[in-house]
Amino acid sequence: LCQVLAGTLPGSFIYRDERVAAFLDIQPVNPGHTLVVPMRHATYLADLEVDEASALLQVALRAAAALRLSSLRCEGVNLFLADGEAAGQEVLHVHLHVLPRFAKDGFGLKLPPEYHTRHASREELDRQAGALRTLLPTAGPSRRAV
Ligand SMILES: [Zn+2]
Repeated sequence: LCQVLAGTLPGSFIYRDERVAAFLDIQPVNPGHTLVVPMRHATYLADLEVDEASALLQVALRAAAALRLSSLRCEGVNLFLADGEAAGQEVLHVHLHVLPRFAKDGFGLKLPPEYHTRHASREELDRQAGALRTLLPTAGPSRRAV
């Protein structure tokens, strides 16, 4: 993605400013599939500054609005971000997918087979929530913001 942003590789941009750019995915799930990326190289979510993360979301919302207004088929939108290899991140530069969706387009998230019978106990949820509360940074996604 750094190479697209630097202009070394071609990109079909729908937006760019000093912080964020948005361009069409070369391997679209559906026509109009857009990637929103920070101009500054950041590998993971935790490497983003708070203002970069909020600019990223603002541009994604505008791209979603443009897709809904466009002549492309767009009955719904998914925002999708894979943070880390275990989450399916394949390109190591933060990118937020804006996916135009329509009924039976074939895109989906695969759930574990036992998902529909899962039910966490209140005790378990309260214990996890308590632990997470103590780890919550004061602001933003950044590790440095603690
Ligand atoms: Zn990069």
